[in-house]
Amino acid sequence: MIRKVTCIDCPKGCVLSVGVEGRKVVKITGNECPKGEEYAVSEIEDPTRILTSTVLAEGFSLRMVPVRTDRPIPKGDIKRAMKEIKRIRISEPVRIGDIIIEDFLRLGVDLIATRESR
Ligand code: SF4
Repeated sequence: MIRKVTCIDCPKGCVLSVGVEGRKVVKITGNECPKGEEYAVSEIEDPTRILTSTVLAEGFSLRMVPVRTDRPIPKGDIKRAMKEIKRIRISEPVRIGDIIIEDFLRLGVDLIATRESR
């Protein structure tokens, strides 16, 4: 099977044709540099994303505080992570970069605030 993947490692946005057998990449064309190969393999064999969302803040005028994971997490864990984020309540003041949950879902990443609670 051939899959089309757009490399997002730089603004050129090369469209890659990726030959896939099972869940393995067997051939890549269309990349203008080696980073495209790395991107395609990661995207097909082990896709990850930085998760961004908001959590509820109690006792502040800003009712929702934006958060994100400090590193990418497996795409397959995003649904579970969103469920968990819905349960979180912030009741103490937070600043940008403060850790909301350390080792979030035991994925080896921290959930951090991207805005102050006010
Ligand atoms: S393959 Fe290389 S040149 Fe093309 S978008 Fe990816 S990083 Fe940029």
